[in-house]
Amino acid sequence: MAPTLRDLPSVDSLLADPQFSAEPRALVVTAARSVLDRARVEIRAGRDPGDIAKLVLAQLESARRHSLRRVLNATGVLVHTNLGRAPLAEAALARVVEVGGGYSNLEYDLEAGARGSRQDHLAGLLARLTGAEAALVVNNNAAAVLLALAALAEGRQVLVSRGELIEIGDGFRIPDVLARSGARLVEVGTTNRTRAADYERAIGPETALLLRVHQSNFRVVGFAGQPQLGELAEIARRHELPLVDDLGSGAPFDVGDEPTATSSLAAGADLVCFSGDKLLGGPQAGIVVGRADLVEKLRRHPLQRALRADKLTLAALEGTLQLCLDPERARREIPVLRMFDEPAETVRARAERLAALVGGEVEETVARVGGGALPLAELPSFACAVEESLTDLLRAGEPPIVGIVRDGRLLLDCRTLADADIEVVAAAVVAARDS
Ligand SMILES: *Cc1c(COP(=O)(O)O)cnc(C)c1O
Repeated sequence: MAPTLRDLPSVDSLLADPQFSAEPRALVVTAARSVLDRARVEIRAGRDPGDIAKLVLAQLESARRHSLRRVLNATGVLVHTNLGRAPLAEAALARVVEVGGGYSNLEYDLEAGARGSRQDHLAGLLARLTGAEAALVVNNNAAAVLLALAALAEGRQVLVSRGELIEIGDGFRIPDVLARSGARLVEVGTTNRTRAADYERAIGPETALLLRVHQSNFRVVGFAGQPQLGELAEIARRHELPLVDDLGSGAPFDVGDEPTATSSLAAGADLVCFSGDKLLGGPQAGIVVGRADLVEKLRRHPLQRALRADKLTLAALEGTLQLCLDPERARREIPVLRMFDEPAETVRARAERLAALVGGEVEETVARVGGGALPLAELPSFACAVEESLTDLLRAGEPPIVGIVRDGRLLLDCRTLADADIEVVAAAVVAARDS
């Protein structure tokens, strides 16, 4: 016989159920009420509402589950913006635990016994790594560019090549950021070709600075060209204007043909802005390095207070930058750099191990850097191919696993999986098939 409203348990009887006795009372009441409301609707519609206690338990479990969770990245995209960009190095994580678990000298000068600045902690390291006089850290690179423009060019003109008026994704467009900073954009050159003389001609009494923007996620091929940074630096110097270089990915040393902050400063840029969580492989952050007098202007601007990085970020960034003092070690221990450098044969061996465990097929793939860095770089890679029907189940699992669906199969790319992930992925595939 179909259940009736009278068959439904009361909230009180659910509260008395021993399986909920360890749960906070208020949570059980909320879950019970919502399950019972739903059950009444089902019964009135002539349907079976299901096992009420079980539904309450499921609701309690879902309320307890974290929203922000660890995910296994089997997409082959190293700096995957949707999957949290760069995974942190162990040494960076250790710094977060140490600094975040207690009090710290975030804004306290231990020598003087007086107030200090959070901006002092990383300035020395960044100077050593890039050769810069001074440095500043904010929330992300978009904030770094915004702050640099607001502090140095508000109400005045900024020259940018038409070939560099980019959108990075998720609404970061150089012309919009420029407008928000209060500076006025002056476009120079054309989409495919801009010459040094185009900048020279556009300079006037209202010009505040020259901005060079790394093209990041696209390339212009064919009849195309942009002036060398050194040529722009020469023009900027002649007119006593600062040259700001938005570098984007912030590779700490040679990674593919990405420019480094060191080379940019050496070529004559006055300020260089880059991300902490792209090819540097650290936490989300925006880093500005360069001339001390200009960095000081950024530091004193009211927006700096709103855009600055928090202590957990600074701790993780310090851990990451310390690794970079020893490039060989950084390449081994910073996950993004390790994945970038890993020989294809090692990736293939991992894919073979996974394929053997789950009865999948090894497939040759192309991994990507992602995050707007090295868009043309194709990293030879290998995936384990399994049934496409497992896609949703693996994504819904614990930990969730995200791969790529291609030609009716799910490819689990092994360049972005670690050795230790393979057993976990194999167990998840087996469990998904059994469910
Ligand atoms: C990625 C990128 C940004 C934005 O950096 P976030 O750290 O994501 O804010 C700005 N400029 C360039 C050239 C980039 O590549």
